[in-house]
Parts: sequence; structure tokens; C-alpha cells
Amino acid sequence: MQQDQQPRRGAAQPGARRPLTPQEVARRRKKREQRKKALRRYHLFLAGLALLAAALLAGLFFTIKGLVLGAQDAKAPPSAAKSAAPSAPPASSAEPEPEPEPEPDPNAPADPTLWSLLLTNVSHPLPDGYAPELASVGSNSRNGQQFMDERVTDAMLQMVAAAKSDGVDLVVRSAYRSTQEQASLFNSMKQSYLNQGLSEEQALAETKKWRNVPGTSEHETGLCADIVGAADLNADLVPGLSEREWAKWLKEHAADYGFILRYPEDKTGVTGTSFEPWHYRYVGVEDARKIMSQGVCLEEYLGAAGE
Ligand SMILES: [Zn+2]
Repeated sequence: MQQDQQPRRGAAQPGARRPLTPQEVARRRKKREQRKKALRRYHLFLAGLALLAAALLAGLFFTIKGLVLGAQDAKAPPSAAKSAAPSAPPASSAEPEPEPEPEPDPNAPADPTLWSLLLTNVSHPLPDGYAPELASVGSNSRNGQQFMDERVTDAMLQMVAAAKSDGVDLVVRSAYRSTQEQASLFNSMKQSYLNQGLSEEQALAETKKWRNVPGTSEHETGLCADIVGAADLNADLVPGLSEREWAKWLKEHAADYGFILRYPEDKTGVTGTSFEPWHYRYVGVEDARKIMSQGVCLEEYLGAAGE
């Protein structure tokens, strides 16, 4: 019973605290209760804060994930290319789930208003003063520095690098041409026919077989390029080049970088242009894969054949 004695002994010591009155005890208890309540509120507040932070982080994570996935899709490296093959749509279930990024519909019609699907041919001249923002795609000893629409240069450089890692040395021989440059090419060829004794009308007709009238060449869009193997930099551009390794590589892989063989051998009647195994045109990965796998040309794909 020693312990029971202590408080009394302590209370008896001089200077020691006097015993609390019942009112004081009650007040102190009340204060303690208030402190406890405040502490509980504080903990609740902290928990709320933690939940909010977690929700924000999760939101941030999914936003970044979406951005990264979106960027990967836009760049579409060849590895991603294969996995992105059109898959069967999921069977319709009773409860519809919200899908933030629906799969692109493989049967969706082409959107001819997309910049990447701009159609340029004899019957579809470019708008007056069409002037894309340009960026370099390298230079070559024949034609110097080459430029393309800056929206497609990354894709072109990636394709050239991929070919190189497959042992194929590609050169962008001729890419963007201004309408003035196209006019100068056109006129010099026409002049050479005039010099050979052809009439004005004959010279014009003959030139049109080989050169696009200024304003109607795809090279003026900045979206296409004549690409050859390094060894063929100065070769005559003839259909027989399709037998070269570089031409086969391009035909097989170009779509994975968003490019199509623009003037196929079996579509000369539709494109109005002879078979050009070196001329590749950017249309974007998704449309390029459809066009190449369907074996159509751009005019057919856009429903503009025969226009
Ligand atoms: Zn060309």
C-alpha cells in the first residue's frame, strides 16, 4: 500500500501542488477532451489532404501516360507498328465502359481534310501561295541540302536511320521544290523540246508527260521525296530501279514511318504518273498502312480517282 500513500505524502510537502478541486478536475477533463477532438479533426484533415494528393498524383500519372502513349502512336516505331495491327472490336457487352481513347476504326473513311492527306495532282492543284514550314532532311552531293514539311522530317530521318541499321543506305535525292523551282524545271524541259524543232503545242504536251505543271507537283507540298540508294544518287530515274535492294526495303517498310509508294506500277492509269519506285509520300502511319495493305493509290483511297 506504499503507492497509495505517496500522493498524500507529496501533498503534505511544502510547496507541493494542492489537490485539485472537482471543478478544476472537470475543467481539465474538458480541456483534454477538446484537445483530443482538435487532434482528431487535425488527423481527419491530414487524411483528407493525403487522399487529395493521391488523387492528384493518379490524375497526373494517367495524363502523362496518355501523352506518352499518344506520342508513341504518332511516331510509331516499327516495333509498335506490328502490334498495332487492326484487331477485332470487342463484343458488345451489356454494361458500356467509358473508353477515353477508342481504337481507330480500320474501316473509317479517309479524312481528305487532313493536312497529311492533301491530294496534289494535275486535277488538284495546290492552293495559291501554298508554303509549308520547312526543315532539313540532310544533303547530297547532287542536289545539296534537301527540305521537307517540318511535320514529316522526323519520320523521314527515322526511316533513313532504320534502313541504315538494316544495311540499306538511303539518300533523299530530291524533296521539296518551290513552285518557282518546279516552273524552272518545267520550262527548261519544254525549251529543250522546242530546240529539237517541236511546235509550242507539241513541246508542251511532251513536257507534261514527264513533268508536272507548276502548282500540281507533289514536290511542292513538302510531303514527298525521291529517295534512292546511295549508289544510285546519279542514276537515271527509271522504273527498273524497283529491283534494287533499297527500293524493296522502302516498299516493305515505308508505311511503318507513314510513307507510301505514291505512283505504283499498276495504278498509272489512275495517278496519271508513270511507275516511280523512288517517290515516297507522307500520309501518316495509320493511313499509310491502310493504303499499302489495300494496294490502292492515294486517289483511290480518297475517293478522288477519275476526278
Ligand atoms: Zn518525285
